[in-house]
Amino acid sequence: MAIASVNPATGETIEEFAEIGEPEIEARIARSDEVFRAHRRDAYDVRAKAMRRAADLLDAEKGEVAAMMTAEMGKTLAAAEAEVAKCARLCRFYADRAADFLADERADADAVGARKAYVRYEPLGPVLAVMPWNFPLWQAMRFAAPALMAGNTGLLKHASNVPRTALYLGELFTRAGFPEGAFQTLLIGSKLVERVLSDPRVVAATLTGSEGAGRSIAAIAGRELKKTVLELGGSDPFLVLPSADIEAAARTATTARTQNNGQSCIAAKRFIVHTDVYDDFAAAFTANMAALRVGDPTAAGTDVGPLAQEQGVRDVTEQVEDARAKGARILCGGERPPGPGWYYPPTVVAELTPDMRMYREEVFGPVAGLYRVSDLDEAIALANATPFGLGANAWTDDDAEQRRCAAELAAGAVFVNGMVTSHPELPFGGIKTSGYGRELAHLGIREFCNAKTVWVGGG
Ligand code: NAP
Repeated sequence: MAIASVNPATGETIEEFAEIGEPEIEARIARSDEVFRAHRRDAYDVRAKAMRRAADLLDAEKGEVAAMMTAEMGKTLAAAEAEVAKCARLCRFYADRAADFLADERADADAVGARKAYVRYEPLGPVLAVMPWNFPLWQAMRFAAPALMAGNTGLLKHASNVPRTALYLGELFTRAGFPEGAFQTLLIGSKLVERVLSDPRVVAATLTGSEGAGRSIAAIAGRELKKTVLELGGSDPFLVLPSADIEAAARTATTARTQNNGQSCIAAKRFIVHTDVYDDFAAAFTANMAALRVGDPTAAGTDVGPLAQEQGVRDVTEQVEDARAKGARILCGGERPPGPGWYYPPTVVAELTPDMRMYREEVFGPVAGLYRVSDLDEAIALANATPFGLGANAWTDDDAEQRRCAAELAAGAVFVNGMVTSHPELPFGGIKTSGYGRELAHLGIREFCNAKTVWVGGG
């Protein structure tokens, strides 16, 4: 895939970039390794000062960074601005909390015959981050902020369709006061990932993206015996049970399916509704979805912009047409609008059966699958009948049902009477083919640390 910034609202190429060559890759890895030796010894206060400055830069440059992301991948300007603000919040969160999260942990010295015993968290070294385009700033920042605060250095291989955001990130941390080379962007295609990850100086990798890319990175890392964190796809269930506030559930369901133009790993994708409230929910949800304004992502008032890539529209169209051809009912949407741009309308598909692709695949666009179930057992069984396990949403006012959903939904997160969202304060990650490891909160910053046991005897 060419490295290029292409406007999804028009299909026009904004700028093309050349991949960097071997001498430059070598120089950047060497720099990352060298800088690590000094950066790892910096005090948390020193790192925190630079991280707060990165947050200030993001706040100050919010308008232009948001416009750049919207032009590159089509999210609405309002969503892009919110993403920049959230990244600034994440930088401040880790600036404030990293020292606590990585403080020495005392162990029971008497029990192990020591004068003192404890665990200390140490950075590992240069880490490769392979990132997706859907939240081009936020996904990369979820890695960068904790990694840099822990004392690691970062090498970013961003998605080939967001090079401008990638280059911005490659300069941000140096401008903020981190040592030059602490965080660098490598403008390379996915074929060169193996070259970087198999370099002995690169100690670990994190990838956010598709299952196929995850398997590929995991295979290389397995061969090289390097630690990985994988944040992959999802097909999150959204359960609606009779005691729920149906209007509120339908409103939240609409946002949960269509935010970021339907291209979020934690978007609710399968709406699993109790038969007693199915008709009411389906009517309210379909009306909401049909009322969304689709169009120019830079225009105020647009709810849903274009999909980021032409291939994305093709994939979504094929998944919906497969369901239609096999007997599913399209309650709204389902037809691409005429004109330029990679638009797909908010769509609700009902009466899905296991032979349809939508039943088992992730749909990366504003398309909802609607399922009718007769009780909570059936709802949980259907929710879990997927290879994915990222997030799960459940709507019920019944305490016992809430406890069952929290315990029995097979996912990395369960949100009750709300929608799955990422927060700096909450760990984020999946199980099954949604990946492994955690980002954010205290768990995220420890992923790329050596939890070193120290035992001290004597007097
Ligand atoms: P993708 O094709 O896997 O791309 C993601 C990144 O991986 C890009 O930088 C891409 O580079 C690179 N890549 C692709 N194939 C690779 C390979 N074989 N070896 C090494 N690197 C490779 O993902 P996408 O389709 O653009 O993104 C959407 C997917 O990401 C969805 O499945 C979504 O659910 C998932 N996602 C997950 C999370 C999460 O936190 N769990 C968050 C956001 C998105 P190129 O661009 O150069 O191909």
